[in-house]
Amino acid sequence: MVSWADILIMTSQEKPAYALALHGGAAVLAKSEMTAEREADYRSGLTAALTVGHDILAKGGSALDAVESVVVSLEDNPLFNAGKGASLNVEGHAVLDAAIMDGASLRAGAVALLRHVRNPMKLARCLLEESCHVFLAGEGAEEFAKARGLELVPVDYFLTDYRIKHLQLVKAHLAALGAQGTQANPAPIVMEEPAFGTVGAVALDHNGNLAAATSTGGMTNKHGGRVGDTPVIGAGTYANNETCAVSASGHGEWFIRAVLAYDIAARMAYGGRSIAEAAEAALIERLTTLGGGGGLIAIDKRGHIVMPFNTLGMYRASIRAGEAARVEIY
Ligand code: ASP
Repeated sequence: MVSWADILIMTSQEKPAYALALHGGAAVLAKSEMTAEREADYRSGLTAALTVGHDILAKGGSALDAVESVVVSLEDNPLFNAGKGASLNVEGHAVLDAAIMDGASLRAGAVALLRHVRNPMKLARCLLEESCHVFLAGEGAEEFAKARGLELVPVDYFLTDYRIKHLQLVKAHLAALGAQGTQANPAPIVMEEPAFGTVGAVALDHNGNLAAATSTGGMTNKHGGRVGDTPVIGAGTYANNETCAVSASGHGEWFIRAVLAYDIAARMAYGGRSIAEAAEAALIERLTTLGGGGGLIAIDKRGHIVMPFNTLGMYRASIRAGEAARVEIY
């Protein structure tokens, strides 16, 4: 099911001085599981992150700084599947991926398979600024973080009771289905609490620059060494001033196969489609047709924001200069 309402919002107004959208994952709790207290916690986490990014943009700061800071705020919030509170892999470890991209220069920083870097987004930004490389993974990435003085933490820092319980639930669910080991065939798991969810942000700044950033613990019960779409430039994260900035959340294997974020930009660049048309087509014709679940946030150079998803909901928030903030879940 696609959320058409969000595909169509915010596309008819004048270009704002700046605009920002963020997501906390397209795997939301079912309404039956969402208590008023939990909903208030999610909304306050989304609002806090939106405020951090808005403050930067309102003072004339860059889209790149805004999306980095928004994602760091969400990484530090244990409710979301990134940084502290990340999903756990089949061995019960948090293994983190992140990426950031600057739409003005097309510079990008992507990191994967991190175990000790407190804020993977800070490492991705550091890579974007200070390295000739785009993508570092595993030990080498953590050595780069150490050399740059980024905060390293013990592996237990990332663990939360909620994610430990969720991993047990997913394993029990797979066992009941007679499945072995990890989600070798990553079909959506039908249960109250889906096995994905991630965080990301996209922004347009005063100078007309776009940026995108995404960070995740990936899929619950993922195989050791598995890397999802989040740090794959063009799949889960992409930004280009000529078209749009995109951050995705969902079952990463499909986003990689569909090259989904870049697919939206390509529909705009080569097909002359609007961001709403491009995002809708990518979500329906690519992701949903392939059988994938998830959602995305995207923004174009005119500050139009779209936030479609084909899941039950997506934790999300947005704001444009001079307009009220929106914080939504379903
Ligand atoms: N897309 C992420 C991945 O597959 C997971 C997520 O969005 O929650 O690693």
